[in-house]
Amino acid sequence: MNREKLLAALRGIEVAGKSVKELYGEISSACMRELMQPVRRTQGKSAYYFSVEYLMGRMFYNNLLALGILDEAREIFAQKGLDLNVFEDVEDAALGNGGLGRLAACYLDSAASLGYPLDGYGIRYKYGLFRQRFKEGRQTEEPDDWQKWGDPWSVRRPNETRRVEFADMTVFAVPYDMPIYGKSLNILRLYQAEGSAEAEKLSEYLYPADDTEEGKLLRIRQEYFFSAAAVGERVERFVAQYGRDFAKFPSVNVFQLNDTHAVFAVAEFLRLLTSEYRLSFGRAVEIAKETFNYTNHTILPEALECWDEKLVEKILPEIAHILKRLQIYASAEWRERGCTAEERRAMSVLTGGRFCMANVAVYVSGHVNGVAEIHSRILKEKLFSAAYRLDPQKFLNVTNGVTHRRWLLLCNGELSGFYDARLGRGWRNDLSQIERIDCSDGKTLGAFSAVKAEKKRQLAAYIEKREGVKLLEDAIYIAQVKRLHEYKRQLMTAFAILRIYFDLKEGRLPDFTPTVFLFGAKAAGGYKRAKATIKYLNDIAALVNGDGAVNRKLQVVFVQNYDVSYAEKIVAGSDVSLQVSTAGFEASGTGNMKLMMNGAVTVGTMDGANIEIVEKAGRENNYIFGATEEEIASLEKGYDPVLFAEKDPRIKEVTDTLTDGTFPASAELEELYAATFERTYNRPDHYYVLYDLMPYVSALLAVNRDYKNGALFARKQLENATHSAFFSSDRAIASYAAKIWKI
Ligand SMILES: *Cc1c(COP(=O)(O)O)cnc(C)c1O
Repeated sequence: MNREKLLAALRGIEVAGKSVKELYGEISSACMRELMQPVRRTQGKSAYYFSVEYLMGRMFYNNLLALGILDEAREIFAQKGLDLNVFEDVEDAALGNGGLGRLAACYLDSAASLGYPLDGYGIRYKYGLFRQRFKEGRQTEEPDDWQKWGDPWSVRRPNETRRVEFADMTVFAVPYDMPIYGKSLNILRLYQAEGSAEAEKLSEYLYPADDTEEGKLLRIRQEYFFSAAAVGERVERFVAQYGRDFAKFPSVNVFQLNDTHAVFAVAEFLRLLTSEYRLSFGRAVEIAKETFNYTNHTILPEALECWDEKLVEKILPEIAHILKRLQIYASAEWRERGCTAEERRAMSVLTGGRFCMANVAVYVSGHVNGVAEIHSRILKEKLFSAAYRLDPQKFLNVTNGVTHRRWLLLCNGELSGFYDARLGRGWRNDLSQIERIDCSDGKTLGAFSAVKAEKKRQLAAYIEKREGVKLLEDAIYIAQVKRLHEYKRQLMTAFAILRIYFDLKEGRLPDFTPTVFLFGAKAAGGYKRAKATIKYLNDIAALVNGDGAVNRKLQVVFVQNYDVSYAEKIVAGSDVSLQVSTAGFEASGTGNMKLMMNGAVTVGTMDGANIEIVEKAGRENNYIFGATEEEIASLEKGYDPVLFAEKDPRIKEVTDTLTDGTFPASAELEELYAATFERTYNRPDHYYVLYDLMPYVSALLAVNRDYKNGALFARKQLENATHSAFFSSDRAIASYAAKIWKI
């Protein structure tokens, strides 16, 4: 990259008379010309990340930061009278649902920054995750036209188009390359489906649910479409360079499957090697085992993909055949190695007429990893216990991380400046240096508090602009931002807020520090219960914010269209991070890490990466409550939420609001009542909301008390921020590179 040349090009851009959109295009293109200078990748091994989602967020500032010219560019254009903040209106590239897609984006960022050769493969959806708006408190969904401002950050490569064959149609996969710039130039290659109106549907919409099943056939097509294109390309390039000596394939290629959505890549790989290149099935499997690796992201049974054999057969007969052959091949191996019938069933590729994609991934992968210590343990002990007994060395943990470039440097220049002033700039490339900050020093704490106060002001201003709501000043800002899902228990926070509201009204909380509860979350379009929770929280917001008796003490705000750019503001401007999943259900979480990195304390359960956060930052600096995973497991039979609410009037008063007319009657309230007290598709209160409710309220009240002592609370926050280095995705990527990819 020629920095001076690029800066000169930026200086040459005329601002006068141009629209914001034109300027966005011109500045981006000038950067792209520098970014896409062909650099020869060193020979040797590269890793490839297969993910059906990439939640990249806004690329503009990130790329200028990566190029090392963000500050200069701001200055150059400020002199021309253009504030670069105007590009904050550019849509996010939201080609993902939530954590899983954002992780993929953070990992690409870290790999490039550290100089590891890691390219990504995925789908270039025309419409990303829907845009959310509230109408009368209910979520509405509109298509997300993320290319409204153009797509200056990617390059179409029509010459590298691939054919993907289904029984009933041919689809062309046209690559779009997005540079990921750092020490190395890596590429995110997203395929767009073309060829016919039917074909185009394959890359039209991001699959809207991240953990429920719908639109099965289309989903299978999407998954095969990009996996087959990617694998085909890797194999073809290998043959062009090295000939047909496939024994060498794993020494130059290593594939990482981001959950099961790309497991068809395994079948396609076996198909190519056996039917196009005439390797024996056994040999092909051996090579696949050295090439593929699998990251599991969830143990929710409804999210573990299983595809109907008949369905796959109908559109991908050869692939179905390969998977059946794999079942026979694997069974023989398992029998030979002395597995019981029960173990063999648990590990089956094909069982009950369905292909179990996680089992395909586990069998074929050289390494299988979970995304936090507790989650990796659960994989070994429960979900994949049979496979673990067979091949214990296959299983490992890589706790998730988030890129501190976006989630600290970019979103919190003030905190970055605070570190610069005390440490120099070396910490920016080695986050562990922030541990040197002395959190007991009064002056340091004062400076940190000033940073937090400023970020809170900025957040409040942003929310006022976007939502038209003025946040309370001098209040504690408490955030629960993440996908709306029952196991994440936004409903428990709703109940906790109502408990606090009633206590405030009845004068039982005389010294209550003003508190703002901030929510951000999208619910999958077909997920009734999640949508009901949004409505309920908006009802609660209307009740609380409209009640003159409490509304200078308590405020509830649910922001619309939570996305990466919104997250950047919220994580920087929050005091407290709510991470309250039912223990055992949240694989890791990454929102918890972003908030910690920006100096929020966690109110949370011992689940996912919360456990490791508390281990690093100190239990005394966070607020841990609730049933542990073991406790939940032991509760499973004897728990009755009806009795539980009956015997505690504090709980009953809150759950009564679902039926007693506190809020206008609605289908949503009925849905939440059923979720809590009736047997539906799950047991009543399947996620133990009532069980953990009162300990949760106590934890929130402990925060409220501690916050009064400004220095004490600031210290807790700073202890969190300065112990967050472990949660940089730089650490996670270095771990993948060393332990799994060997690059
Ligand atoms: C980080 C992030 C997530 C993941 O949040 P969790 O709390 O880990 O579920 C989801 N959505 C967006 C926009 C994010 O930035």
